[in-house]
Amino acid sequence: MSGSGSATSESGAASSESGVLFVDHAGVLGGAELSLLDLAAAFGAGSETLLLAEGPFRTALESRGVKVSVEPLGALKHVKKETRLPGPAAFTDAVRIARRVARRAKPHKVIYANSQKAFVVAAAAGLLARRPVVWHLRDILAPPHFSGTNVRAAVTLANLRAARVITNSRATAAAFMAAGGHASLVRVVHNGIDPAPFDAVTPAAAAATRAALGVPADAFVVALFGRFHPWKGQQVLLDALTRLPRVHALFVGAPLFGEEAFASALQAQAAKTGVADRAHFLGFRADVPELMRASDAVVHASVYPEPFGRVIVEGMLAGRPVIATRAGGVTEIVDDETGVLVPPNDAEALARAIESLAGDPGHAAAMAARGAARARKEFTVAAMVRGVEDAMRDLL
Ligand code: UDP
Repeated sequence: MSGSGSATSESGAASSESGVLFVDHAGVLGGAELSLLDLAAAFGAGSETLLLAEGPFRTALESRGVKVSVEPLGALKHVKKETRLPGPAAFTDAVRIARRVARRAKPHKVIYANSQKAFVVAAAAGLLARRPVVWHLRDILAPPHFSGTNVRAAVTLANLRAARVITNSRATAAAFMAAGGHASLVRVVHNGIDPAPFDAVTPAAAAATRAALGVPADAFVVALFGRFHPWKGQQVLLDALTRLPRVHALFVGAPLFGEEAFASALQAQAAKTGVADRAHFLGFRADVPELMRASDAVVHASVYPEPFGRVIVEGMLAGRPVIATRAGGVTEIVDDETGVLVPPNDAEALARAIESLAGDPGHAAAMAARGAARARKEFTVAAMVRGVEDAMRDLL
């Protein structure tokens, strides 16, 4: 077994002959890709990952010993979740890519799609290669995340062609079923996150990271981690900052899928509202555990229901108090004992929550400790790997 880390050994579930072709459309490292990274590594040498774009995800998979290849998407690349109907060039490309994916699927027992685009391709490839297709659905299939047409097409295809639909939360499953998805296909498997990188951050390393940020020693530092997109709510935290003169905020992440204009608008908002010296835009970072440990609280501010929210579990693993918006899969991760839940898109409530944590360090620390214990128990990589293997057991 070439899988590395505690997940594989802990679970003992992922055999080297599992024979899965994992397919993901992205080359960049979003949450879905980071989850697949641990999964594909645990499944080991009998499986293989096929990406539909070049990028750092390939290198990350290779560094974990995962066999990877890339078949770039053509016009299909430009089809967005919100797109009403893809053009004919996208369909032609889908057929071309499906043929290639089908060839790669032949030595494997199952095709596993890690995104909606990957599922469209995998569904066609599965037909050509006569292989069952599993869709790991990591999105809330509903407007405004997706257009109505897109939701109907995805659910119809899933009902026709998916042997199973694994969802990353009960909220994701509920949206799929509310849109007409067959309940019999669904298995809920929460994401798991390895605590080791969080445990490895020494107090000295956290202090050095904080010093490098250049924030005053007495500042209360909150951090929001996530790609730049209006639904991730960076603008809400910026707004909250205008009410919190002693607070500094770290915005960690980048516009991964073409949201550069939104990123510029955030910088303009910070300047216009007079918080630019307390809003630190750090771009995409690979040292998330260090940055979390260098912060006083982790803020999740998504304005639409978050399907899961890895960053919430990560904040808990880092031993930091977490503030999150009460919607979607978030409430399956954190409750009023293990974090502070606030209404989405409510800067006033977010500011009050930050203020209450800053004003009561004892309460904040106790809450963070409860959160850390829950995350370590419930959201393990081993449980995630086991869950996915169980969901596919009859297909393998
Ligand atoms: N992340 C990262 N660097 C950054 C910002 C985010 O590595 O600069 C990671 C973060 O630690 C988390 C993932 O990206 O593991 C985001 O996952 P989440 O489920 O929170 O959101 P998604 O991107 O899937 O919507």
